Amino acid sequence: MNIQTAKHMGLCFGVRDAIKLAETSAKSGPTTILGPLAHNPAIQKRLLDQRIGFVERHEEAFTRELIITAHGVSNRTREAAQQAGFDIKDATCPLVHFAHRSLLQLVEEGYYPVIIGKADHIEVRGLTGDLDTFTVVLSESDILNIPQKDRIGVVSQTTQPIDKVRLLVAGIRERFPESDVQFKDTVCHPTKQRQSAAVSLGKSSDVVVVIGGKTSNNTRQLSDTISHYCTRVYQIESVTDLKPNWFKETDTVGVTAGTSTPDETIRTVIRQLEAWSAEWSVVPQGKSSPVMAGSADRDY
Ligand code: SF4
Repeated sequence: MNIQTAKHMGLCFGVRDAIKLAETSAKSGPTTILGPLAHNPAIQKRLLDQRIGFVERHEEAFTRELIITAHGVSNRTREAAQQAGFDIKDATCPLVHFAHRSLLQLVEEGYYPVIIGKADHIEVRGLTGDLDTFTVVLSESDILNIPQKDRIGVVSQTTQPIDKVRLLVAGIRERFPESDVQFKDTVCHPTKQRQSAAVSLGKSSDVVVVIGGKTSNNTRQLSDTISHYCTRVYQIESVTDLKPNWFKETDTVGVTAGTSTPDETIRTVIRQLEAWSAEWSVVPQGKSSPVMAGSADRDY
């Protein structure tokens, strides 16, 4: 079994910086994070172990320090929290700030705002939170919900696959041929790198393991992309989800991970795969070719 890793995978700089800010803040006193800092149970646990709290709304926070995550919030939310007396520490990723600025500029120029993404995702709620009218589009059928407008301005959630975003923008242009449809590409560079590395991984692997939280949007997007090129794709949260019967001794196994997956989680999964690979390539005495140790017990 050969193991290969994606050229780009795992924690992005935005999430890494947000974790660092939360952990530094926790050293000087109780800290609360507004919303999920990362959609990953290992990171959530690591922060909870440092007595860092999580709340959905700033009104629920019990500490003076309040951290805004890499996903960002609307200006309305930020200002309401400031007025309520919280000491705000802002870990909003610069690339999410770019998405906010792009959207605001389109609105100021008179474009009707359309956001490609998941309506209930914290980042999209931040983007739409300052708008009175807008449409969120995740699939082609959602395009039917966009009202007829002369000018339509489109941005995207930073973690959507760029190919899908371009298809949806083309669909919007097709539905409104008379309208001026402006698209600002706000998909972040780390997402584009991870998506394109995932395509290469899917093309060159017999089976791919995608590591990330069950609720992580970008992890699921990686799995979806890879499934176009590889039929055996398994999304796991941690090493305990790995099953030996997913692999055969001759397989090339690809490994990738979402932008909120900690390095240690990835290392543990790779170590387990390497251990199986070594175990299964043992040549018992009297045999001329490698066999899988204990293969009779496994359901291949
Ligand atoms: S996924 Fe992209 S936009 Fe989101 S935190 Fe990471 S680098 Fe920033």
